[in-house]
This record gives sequence, C-alpha cells and structure tokens, in this order.
Amino acid sequence: MIKAMNITKDFGANTVLKDISTIIKQGQVVAIIGPSGSGKSTFLRCLNLLEEPTSGNIFINDKKITDKKVDKLAIRRNIGMVFQHFHLFPHMTVLENVAYAPQKVKKLSKAEAESTAKKLLDKVGLTDKVAAYPNRLSGGQKQRVAIARALAMEPEIMLFDEPTSALDPEMVKEVLDVMKDLVDTGMTMVIVTHEMNFAKEVADRVLFLADGMLVEEGNPQEFFEHPKTERAQDFLAKVL
Ligand code: ADP
Ligand code: MG
Repeated sequence: MIKAMNITKDFGANTVLKDISTIIKQGQVVAIIGPSGSGKSTFLRCLNLLEEPTSGNIFINDKKITDKKVDKLAIRRNIGMVFQHFHLFPHMTVLENVAYAPQKVKKLSKAEAESTAKKLLDKVGLTDKVAAYPNRLSGGQKQRVAIARALAMEPEIMLFDEPTSALDPEMVKEVLDVMKDLVDTGMTMVIVTHEMNFAKEVADRVLFLADGMLVEEGNPQEFFEHPKTERAQDFLAKVL
C-alpha cells in the first residue's frame, strides 16, 4: 500500500533523511522508533506530502505521489494524521471538529456528517463530550477527538506522530486503547512512538531510525529481544 523508495530529505545543508526505503502492506501496523532528531517526524510527513522528499519516490496504492503533477490535497484526504499536540479547532465544539472536514471536503450534508461524527465519538468513548469545546477536555480526551476527526474522512491509512507524548501518564492508556481498537479494524497504520510496550504488542514491524538512516527493521519480537546493530542496542538500553 505504501512504498517509499530511496527517500532523502535535505533542510538546507542538513540531510535529515538518508536513502530510506521500505514497503508497508495494507493492514500492516508499523512502529517507527529512534532517538530525538533522527528524522521520524520528517519521514512520516513525507508519506502524506506535508514534506516533499528532496529525492526518491513514494507510491501509495501504486500511484506515484511524489510526482509533481499529483493533487496533494487529494492524497492527504486519504491519509489521516494525528499529531502530538492534537491541533483541534479551538472555536469549534467536539462534534463540529469531527464533522467539519467531511462537510467541507467530502460535501456531506451537516446531518450526515454529524451523524457519522457522533458514531465515531461514541467509539472513542466521548459521547458525553460532543457539545464541549476543546479547552474543557483533558489531553487524553483531546487526542481521542483528534483520532475521531481523522477517521471521519474515512482514510485508508492513519499516521500517528507521538500521539501520547504530550499526555499525562494516566491518560496514555485511553489513547492507546483507542488505537488498539483501530488496529483490530485492519487499518493500515504508521506510528511514531516512544511507547515500546505498545509497539511490541501491536506492531507487525518496527523501523528504527538513527541520524536519518533506517538502521534496522524487523518484527518487534526480534528487534526488541535481539537488536542487531550497536545503534539499536544502545538506544534500547536507554529506553527499556
Ligand atoms: P524526530 O521526529 O525523529 O525527532 P525530526 O524529523 O523532527 O526528528 O527532525 C529531524 C531533523 O530535521 C532535526 O535535525 C530537525 O532539526 C530537522 N528539521 C525538521 N524539520 C525541519 C524544518 N522544517 N526545517 C529545518 N530543519 C528541520
Ligand atoms: Mg518527531
């Protein structure tokens, strides 16, 4: 479903992604881990064209999305993204946050969009918060709204960039539980995370990035128990 081939990204003189290639199949859950500054967010952002690779190509369902002529907005519509800091619309209620894009972009009627939004909010356990404004919510609740909002566009792929890193510890589980439910639906997911136990439990594959390079990739069991490279061994010794 996603094929990244020889992705390189420069910011000025700084090369932050170096020749990264990987294939993610439909329904796979891939965890990206690695030290801060290793290029995890940049790689994720390349997958939905929030960043443009300097060289290399990305294919989604065999469509070359790095082609200059591609309709970036159409590509992004099909790929949901959840950020560390939620990015909810502060002046809209929870329901409006979730129902907005389907009306604006998919041209659904307000009634249709709100009906779908309510179902999604129910799934993430926020039925009682539909009329609340984001500033009334806890971090965990905000992130669950952000997930529901991304799902409202019915994406084929969901990208998560450290979705629990900004949360108080007691709220991490409620967000991870929602993500696990999503895994169970067969969603194709790429997740940058520092939650190693979560990665171990749900990921089909782990990508370990360091210094902009894909240093190691493998199934979680193998990676966490027998990391092959010294770089990965050092990293895991620090975080586990
Ligand atoms: P990670 O998510 O693994 O912490 P990032 O992808 O955010 O790493 O960053 C990788 C490197 O790219 C860092 O050195 C960072 O400073 C740099 N970088 C990221 N975004 C930009 C940008 N928009 N402009 C310039 N440098 C950037
Ligand atoms: Mg990052």
